[in-house]
Amino acid sequence: MLKNLEKFLDTLWPTQCIACDEVSQMQIFCRYCEPSVKPADSGAVFLFSGAIREVIHKAKCSPDESRARQLMKTIPPLGGISGFDGIVFVPIHWRRRLTRGFDLSALFALTLSKQLKIPVLDWLQNTRFDRPLTLSASKIERAALTQGRYKIRKNADTPKNILLVDDVMTTGATLEAAKSVLATAGHPVTCLALARTPLLMLQ
Ligand SMILES: [Zn+2]
Repeated sequence: MLKNLEKFLDTLWPTQCIACDEVSQMQIFCRYCEPSVKPADSGAVFLFSGAIREVIHKAKCSPDESRARQLMKTIPPLGGISGFDGIVFVPIHWRRRLTRGFDLSALFALTLSKQLKIPVLDWLQNTRFDRPLTLSASKIERAALTQGRYKIRKNADTPKNILLVDDVMTTGATLEAAKSVLATAGHPVTCLALARTPLLMLQ
């Protein structure tokens, strides 16, 4: 009886921690990883550290969409976010999406869309397929890599109040580049990342 129940619950809920893969007794994060999940005070949902850093790395590099989907379930209800007409995500290049199978920013946008009841607008295009930004890239390197990377699609005509989202914010260069494309087209933009590096020196 108990075995059947466990089996049934297994299909509903993972028994492996999504960060370290250890047994987690039907929790998304195990009891060792859970305390390292820290909310960000502004501009992002989580701090890009501890278990969050681990799971995002595994989801993107393995790649592992189901891990990414489990991570979405850990996003708490977000207060204070209102007045937006749509959610635009910072996309990866279509070739990277093809090899990875999913876009974490798009998945984050969809999750927020369900929670906030705001539509996702597929407005941005990533025009460059080159190496992704790394933590070690300098500010100058980052600026060069984001230059002209994003283009707005033709259907983005009427000005809308946009919530622009990305998966990981390191220096903010990527979000800034995408934001300026939308702002130039006349859309007011507010940015939100799924996770951001703890020592954010920008602003
Ligand atoms: Zn764990």
